[in-house]
Amino acid sequence: MIRTRFAPSPNGPLHLGHAYAAIVAHDAARERGGAFVLRIEDIDGERSRAQVVEEFFLDLEWLGLAWDGDAVFQSRRLATYADAGERLQAMGLLYPCTCTRAEIAAAAKAWGPDGPVYPGTCRHREVDPANAAWRLDVGKAMALTGPLEWRDEAAGPQAAVPQVFGDVVLLRKDLPASYHLAATLDDAGDGITLVTRGMDLFAASHIHRLLQALLDLPVPTWLHHPLLLEADGRKLAKRRGAPSLADRRRAGEDGAVIARALREGRLPAGISLSQGVHHSP
Ligand code: GLU
Repeated sequence: MIRTRFAPSPNGPLHLGHAYAAIVAHDAARERGGAFVLRIEDIDGERSRAQVVEEFFLDLEWLGLAWDGDAVFQSRRLATYADAGERLQAMGLLYPCTCTRAEIAAAAKAWGPDGPVYPGTCRHREVDPANAAWRLDVGKAMALTGPLEWRDEAAGPQAAVPQVFGDVVLLRKDLPASYHLAATLDDAGDGITLVTRGMDLFAASHIHRLLQALLDLPVPTWLHHPLLLEADGRKLAKRRGAPSLADRRRAGEDGAVIARALREGRLPAGISLSQGVHHSP
């Protein structure tokens, strides 16, 4: 049975872009007789607020998007992330790194999906692990797994090229896991068979596919959907003043009308949907 998920981070209120993402996940499950999971990506304790999560629940109900079962919270799964981290460490695939952002920016020779590609500075040097982040040695990991593939429902089969990120951080200094490790373990733990999310996370799936191979996790299919863009072509963002769903709800707007408009591709003035299907480098 198909299982999809919507996985917002409670670092601020939801806006129309989130509503679109939630509708894609919800409708994919409902159209195919599957289940729709709501996962709150709240491991970043400082930014995660219970009040914001309460608003998420109200927003989704207002849009007419019912999820199956109880919402799941990343903050309740820290032991799972730590176990996987230890397993990768025992496989000799992680190394500690104490480089600062500024050091990485200064030494980087390439640009990747998340900014400067980590140049591997700490890969072969002695570092005090007590105060370090742990990076995945992507070259070593790929040598272990051999070539990997994954499939996006819209873009088709993809050869996994996690190398485009360089050696990503899997265990953060301040947190028990990075987004990549937590999301991959959660999708497996939640039995997700179709990972729907925005096109901006397309490249992340290269890393997630590698982690699945290393940790013997099931491999889902992906569907990276278009993004809602502002008039200047940038992704809709609350920090640039996109109105929150909560404000619109409190102002008495009808969530069902908003959801219908999004499904029919009718967007507010100045907002457009990004075009096309992503193609690998
Ligand atoms: N938590 C992420 C966000 O709010 C979504 C991650 C995902 O769907 O994999 O953008």
